[in-house]
Amino acid sequence: SLKCSAKPYIFLPHLAASLEVEETYIMIKPDGVQRGLVGEIISRFEKKGFKLTGLKLFECPKELAEEHYKDLQSKSFFPNLISYITSGPVVCMAWEGVGVVESARKLIGATNPLNAMPGTIRGDLAVQTGRNVVHGSDSPENGIREIALWFKEGELCKWAPTIDPWLNE
Ligand code: ADP
Repeated sequence: SLKCSAKPYIFLPHLAASLEVEETYIMIKPDGVQRGLVGEIISRFEKKGFKLTGLKLFECPKELAEEHYKDLQSKSFFPNLISYITSGPVVCMAWEGVGVVESARKLIGATNPLNAMPGTIRGDLAVQTGRNVVHGSDSPENGIREIALWFKEGELCKWAPTIDPWLNE
């Protein structure tokens, strides 16, 4: 069930009414975990100013990987993608913020690291499409869908950072 609605819990009352606050599902893929990039990747979203609302290290069952990537079922690389995602633990994260879905995609960079700009996660840290270290939801709707898919009720933490007035006017 889509229990984790994007309803923000924020310090400033006028922001709580803002429609721009979104949530996105970010996942550090098994290569990112194995290569010791967990701290580096989390740090980029933290420094940007987004709010972490969910975080766990998780061994993804095949069925969940297939559900998550069901839109890519017909692609020739689908079987490889599923074995890649289930090849070791992943770090599942929910992040919240103004425009977080599009902004996170920009921080992550293009799907093929060859096309990802330096300064982006994939541009700085990855070489190949099939080992591109991180996932980010591609729309606000998918952000909600994917968070509901990867997290159970009670695993998400809606909190109000006191720095909010310094990040959002
Ligand atoms: P993104 O993760 O940037 O949203 P897609 O949704 O198109 O990209 O693809 C999902 C994931 O599938 C990619 O991040 C990558 O791990 C894998 N993938 C996509 N295209 C290819 C490809 N041509 N060969 C191998 N893996 C691919």
